[in-house]
Amino acid sequence: MQRLNRTLAALAFSLGALWAGGHGQWSYHGATGPSHWGDLDPNFLMCKIGSNQSPVNLHRFIQAQLPRLKVVYRGNAMEVLNDGHSVKVTTIGSNEIVVDGIPFNLVQFHFHTPSEHTLQGRSFPMEAHFVHQSPSGELLVVALFFEEGHYNKALEKILNDLDGHVGVKSHLKEMFNPGELFPRKLDYYRYSGSLTTPPCSEGVRWIVLKERVEASQDQIQRFQEVMGENNRPTQPLKARTILE
Ligand SMILES: [Zn+2]
Repeated sequence: MQRLNRTLAALAFSLGALWAGGHGQWSYHGATGPSHWGDLDPNFLMCKIGSNQSPVNLHRFIQAQLPRLKVVYRGNAMEVLNDGHSVKVTTIGSNEIVVDGIPFNLVQFHFHTPSEHTLQGRSFPMEAHFVHQSPSGELLVVALFFEEGHYNKALEKILNDLDGHVGVKSHLKEMFNPGELFPRKLDYYRYSGSLTTPPCSEGVRWIVLKERVEASQDQIQRFQEVMGENNRPTQPLKARTILE
């Protein structure tokens, strides 16, 4: 009995450490929130000392002849889960964007409520990040703003199968092409930034779509209920400019 008690105590301790901010655990609030990320783990140092961090307030635009964004998505959204920081959807198949002559394939997309980027100081109720990776491991993220408005059919295919519990993965009953979430026009802003979550690695190509899409108040609220507020505050632009 005593041995069982010891085992249970050890288990409770390790679970407690895991959930209550053990080594490298981070969150959006309090002692493990964004202003402390850089101190939580040596691997998170860039969160504190980086000079090209994301998200940013989009302003100080430079007119550039940005090439048309070519999105060739042929695969599908496959599984959805609440990973404890965001609602994340994994994808399969070839979902490619070519930027700077480099092919980037979509790995996953996820959501933030409210938006992480702001547009000339304006925040939006939700933002999606489509995370792409090149064969050599470089990252490109396409950001999409959501405004409150009409019911969004593609989003509902995610919400239908979303189990709010952390770590519970669900297969989408109705798999769909992730491009269904995109707006008609693909004009964009571009800048160089970082992951908006630890380890805040830099060298990330950011494409922020100018055209916003809509979701109903109820849909946005359902995402928010699962994720809470999961937006890192905007970071200083420093020497950077935003191309448009
Ligand atoms: Zn994100």
